[in-house]
Amino acid sequence: MKIGILGGGQLGRMLIQEALKYDDEWFTLDPVADAPCSRISDFTQGKFDDFDTVFDFGKGKDVVSIEIEHVNVDALLELQECGIKVIPSPEIIRIIQQKILQKEFYRKNNIPSPDFQVIQNRSEADFPLPFVQKMNTGGYDGKGVQVIRTGEDLQHLWNVPSVLESLVDIEKELSIILAISENGETRTFPVTEMVADPKLNLLDFNICPAHISEHVEKQIRDIAAQFIAAANSPGLFAIELFLDKEGKVWVNETAPRLHNSGHQTQEGNANSQFEQLYRVIKNLPLADTDSSGYSGMLNLVGEEHFSGKVKYDGLEKVLRLPKTYVHLYGKTETKPGRKMGHINVLADSRKELMEKLLHIKSLVRVIS
Ligand code: ADP
Repeated sequence: MKIGILGGGQLGRMLIQEALKYDDEWFTLDPVADAPCSRISDFTQGKFDDFDTVFDFGKGKDVVSIEIEHVNVDALLELQECGIKVIPSPEIIRIIQQKILQKEFYRKNNIPSPDFQVIQNRSEADFPLPFVQKMNTGGYDGKGVQVIRTGEDLQHLWNVPSVLESLVDIEKELSIILAISENGETRTFPVTEMVADPKLNLLDFNICPAHISEHVEKQIRDIAAQFIAAANSPGLFAIELFLDKEGKVWVNETAPRLHNSGHQTQEGNANSQFEQLYRVIKNLPLADTDSSGYSGMLNLVGEEHFSGKVKYDGLEKVLRLPKTYVHLYGKTETKPGRKMGHINVLADSRKELMEKLLHIKSLVRVIS
């Protein structure tokens, strides 16, 4: 089968890496000439948000999927008209692309997400402080998001279409990854804890399974079921969640694609999120997602003050450790905050897992 992926980053790379054990032809589209997928697939350099580029890329493929959501949805609709299978549906991509539509989708489908106001410009802001402003489009990895705490902060409001959202008193950030196949079969991965690096605002650790009560687990199961019913689309989705200090779970946002919070599934689960998306794309039986022990992930992120040809300082020490797995993304140039790779770890207890992750973090640096 000819499978086209919009986006040629690390998510696509790890999907193809997993799927090369099957028989398919992989095509990727990315604006960057040396994108992580460029040397492992039939690569087209071009913009995935441009109608003609996406349409031309998709023509002649059997299935088109995505590894980033900022793609040209009109071209995907047109490709669908021409009989090409598009996963996930262009409609759900369009909803998720825009924070305003995404929040309205949660409200309409009774999916618990923090209360919000939609504004088209700064002068419309009329929402109780403190709140979080999220740009309707263009946000990514914590960009396009700011906390407004005081009346004085109001003057820093961005003058663009946005969502103003209640500030949640966060106990933990969690994620659940789920798969929906064309014939309605569904599977979820165990709930994962995401621990952020406060400076870079990028995901730093994953811990799986999350340490949560049955009551919290039940809320998350209900949210997943509501999302599956409302999405009405095959695909692999990552729902990012907040657990507040009172034990209530809120949906932060959903990614209609592979997700950083699922990287430890590569070795931590019977099958990974990459295998699972492959099954969805091919309309095959979904894979089992069981895990036995604990698994975790540490992002390898470009260190501050270092730009240029990448060096992974301390990696050999990491490679000596048991049940430790290094994944690099084939990016030659490091920049502060750039995701260059990750390290997965298995352990028998949460305590052992945390110790291993912290130890590895102290060993390795991404420099130039
Ligand atoms: P991005 O799409 O860039 O990842 P998010 O919407 O996930 O942006 O926001 C980035 C981070 O900001 C979240 O991981 C969380 O720590 C914080 N945040 C976002 N929304 C809220 C909220 N309503 N209350 C408290 N913190 C929030």
